[in-house]
Amino acid sequence: MKKLFFLIFCLIISGCQSRQSLYTEKQQEILRDADVLDYAENSCEQVTTLQMMLDEGAFEKEYIEDYCRMELTSSKHVNFLLDQGLNDEDVIGFSTIPYFRDENITRYLEADGSYEERVLKVNMNMDLEPFETTSYVSDFSDMTLLVNKFNALPEGYVPDDMVDVKYVCVQGVDYSCTTMDQVVLRQEAEEAFERFVESALEEKGISIVAIAAYRSYQYQKDLYNYYLPIYGQERTDQYYARPGQSEHNSGLAVDITFDHIRYTDIESHEAYPWILENMHRFGFILRYPEDKQKITRYGYESWHLRYVGVEAATTMYENNWCLEEYLARK
Ligand SMILES: [Zn+2]
Repeated sequence: MKKLFFLIFCLIISGCQSRQSLYTEKQQEILRDADVLDYAENSCEQVTTLQMMLDEGAFEKEYIEDYCRMELTSSKHVNFLLDQGLNDEDVIGFSTIPYFRDENITRYLEADGSYEERVLKVNMNMDLEPFETTSYVSDFSDMTLLVNKFNALPEGYVPDDMVDVKYVCVQGVDYSCTTMDQVVLRQEAEEAFERFVESALEEKGISIVAIAAYRSYQYQKDLYNYYLPIYGQERTDQYYARPGQSEHNSGLAVDITFDHIRYTDIESHEAYPWILENMHRFGFILRYPEDKQKITRYGYESWHLRYVGVEAATTMYENNWCLEEYLARK
C-alpha cells in the first residue's frame, strides 16, 4: 500500500523517480553549500557551462543564472566580464578569446571588428597613438621582449651578457660600416648569428656581416637629444627612437649586409629571399617588414634583424606574424 502511494506520488510530481543527479558528488557539494542545488538540478539550461565553472573553481553563486543561460567554452574571464555588466553576446564573444586581457576591457569595447580582431588590435596598441602609453620591459631573460613605441627598456639598461660579434663589417670595405670600435650582442643572439652567417655561406654562398648591433641607452639618448631641438619632436620621433625604445638598446638586434653591398640594396640581391626564408631556423626575424608598418609603427627595414629564439621565430615565420602580432596572442 505504501509502495503504491509512493508510485502515484511520483507520477504526479514527475522526475522524482530515483533520478540521477546532473552533477558529480563534488559539484553537488558546492551547489548545496551555496544553496542552489535545487535550482541547478531543475532550472539550469546550460548544465555543461555550470559544470565547467564548478570544476575549474570559478563558480560564483551570484552568477549562477548567467552560467545556466549561456553556452560557454572557457571559464576564464567569465566572472570578470559579468562584473562589467556586459550583455550575453559580449560575455560569450570575449570569453572565447584566449588572449583577452582584463585590463584592456574598456578599449576592447571601444574598438571595432570581431571579438578576436578587437582583442588583437588593442593588445598591439593599434588603437593608440605612438608614445601614448609606455610599459617597461622587466623580464630580460625573455628573448621575445618587446621594445617599440609603447614598450621601453628601463633607463640606463645595459645587458649583462654581451659578447663580441664574430662576423662584423670592415670599415672602408663594407658600405655603411659604422665607426663603433666594438660590435656586441647578447651571447645567445651572437651564437645564433654565427650559426646563421656560417649556414648562409655554406648553403647560399653569401658572406653576411653585422653593420650595427648593440647601441647603448646613453648613445640613443644623446642622439635623440641632439636632433630634438633641430627637428622638433614630431620629426625627431619619425627618424630616431627615443632612449630605451631602440631595439638596438636590447642587444638582440643586428643590422646586416652581405658581400660588401650597400645595406639598403640587399633586398634586391638574388640571395635575399634565402635570408627571409631561413633566418627563423636560427632564431631571427625581420623586425620591420614592409607589410606590417601599421603594426610596428616603423618604416620597412630590410636589414634590421631581431633575435627572438628559434621557436618564436619559427612560429612567426609560419604564420607571417611580426613580433607584435605574436605577443598579442600570448
Ligand atoms: Zn637596426
